[in-house]
Amino acid sequence: MNRVTVLKFGGTSIQDAAAIRRVTDIVAGRKNETLVALFSALNQATNTLIRVAKKSALGDIETARRLLDGLLSRHTSLINEVIINPSSRSRLLEKTTDYFHEAKNLATGLSLTREFSLRSLDYIVGFGELASSGILTASLQERGIPAQWVNAREWMVTNDDFGHAHPDIKILPRRAQELFFPILEQGIIPITQGFIGATEENGQYTPTTLGLEGSDYSAALLSYALDAQHVEIWTDVDGILTSDPRIVSKSQPIACLSYEEAAQLTLFGLKALHPSTLLPVSEKRIPLRVRNSFRAKSPGTWILPHEQIKETPAQSIKSITCKKNVTRITVHAPPHHVPISFFGSIYELFNKFDVTIDLVTTAHRHISMAFTETEETAHMLRELEIFSPFVMQRNKAIVTLVGDLASQPGSLFEAIFRQVSEDRISMICYGASDNSLSFLTCRDQADSILRNLHRHFFETAEEIPQEVKS
Ligand code: ASP
Ligand code: MG
Repeated sequence: MNRVTVLKFGGTSIQDAAAIRRVTDIVAGRKNETLVALFSALNQATNTLIRVAKKSALGDIETARRLLDGLLSRHTSLINEVIINPSSRSRLLEKTTDYFHEAKNLATGLSLTREFSLRSLDYIVGFGELASSGILTASLQERGIPAQWVNAREWMVTNDDFGHAHPDIKILPRRAQELFFPILEQGIIPITQGFIGATEENGQYTPTTLGLEGSDYSAALLSYALDAQHVEIWTDVDGILTSDPRIVSKSQPIACLSYEEAAQLTLFGLKALHPSTLLPVSEKRIPLRVRNSFRAKSPGTWILPHEQIKETPAQSIKSITCKKNVTRITVHAPPHHVPISFFGSIYELFNKFDVTIDLVTTAHRHISMAFTETEETAHMLRELEIFSPFVMQRNKAIVTLVGDLASQPGSLFEAIFRQVSEDRISMICYGASDNSLSFLTCRDQADSILRNLHRHFFETAEEIPQEVKS
């Protein structure tokens, strides 16, 4: 048997009948490969299911039922449109109705107990993936492609951190291989789900999820478990772009990136990939390709081991990204405190509240940190206040340039800072990785900085207007 290629399709790639036919064509067109396909829920289905759980827990069972009826009718219409064969259509309609019936029972239970837990949320949201993958299985079978539906809860073994469960990477490969290889050896394509998993408790399996947008991570984990040849993340954009197209209209797809470069981008604003996706694939050096299901012919972006990229004439800056709504705090070590141990206690505080630090700079007795505010950060700051005063600045943004910054650092840095007037920058971070340089700026100025930098690094010389500085 050839090594497996894992294909993952996101919610917009299967959002309606036309999209489902397109994806069916994509899979059907790859007859000579050994494929496994993973699916997200239909776009917006997960958000609707989250609302169902929340409304139920508030006792508003009427709204919860209405939302579930809406989802069922969306799935039913799709089935009626896509699946022609009467017996497979009626089987699928029955199975899909059962899912939403079970979701309704669960919602009723929640409305009686008025209890909102991540455990019940994981149970309810999973129906989105179970239902969508059923439709895709039938659609492929109808096209004459041997396909078999596989429940992800049988292979995605996780811990019991409901809402953002961690996979059990030791058990996963054996489980997945035992389940998938016999199917693949018969020439059948296993069709399974991203995002959902299960934890084992007293011999029973309880549904979990890997967290929102987690199906990219599922695909990477499955590729790791099956030692895949490569993995394709099919989405609705032409790969990973040189910047955010909503801000920079001339953003273009990047041909290839290293794992490290892509990881930096996912941390600093890139939405096309879940941040954990790159860990399992880079560990086994499995190439990952981001592709557009609406334009299957476009090449997309390859994410590869660093040394495989050197052969192509790499442009040193690959992408410029931006993370908005960032807050900065600056803390000064009080007199008589040893700065290093004082800094240590600040880090411990971030760790205690599980707050990710996006940027950090230190100078003698001062430490500055930038992060995104959440409920946890509010608790953390209250505790920080007790042992040290601090200065807080809100409405900041982090601009990050990703690429091979080590090759010509001098000229590169000069070019970067020529595009941005100094008063706009407040924290500059470079050095821990040769692949990224980040700085903090005001949120209001981030878009124009991004456009200036993009113009300089990616748009042709004749298009560069007089340097725009305010
Ligand atoms: N359906 C899930 C979500 O919307 C998982 C995913 O699409 O990645 O978050
Ligand atoms: Mg996604």
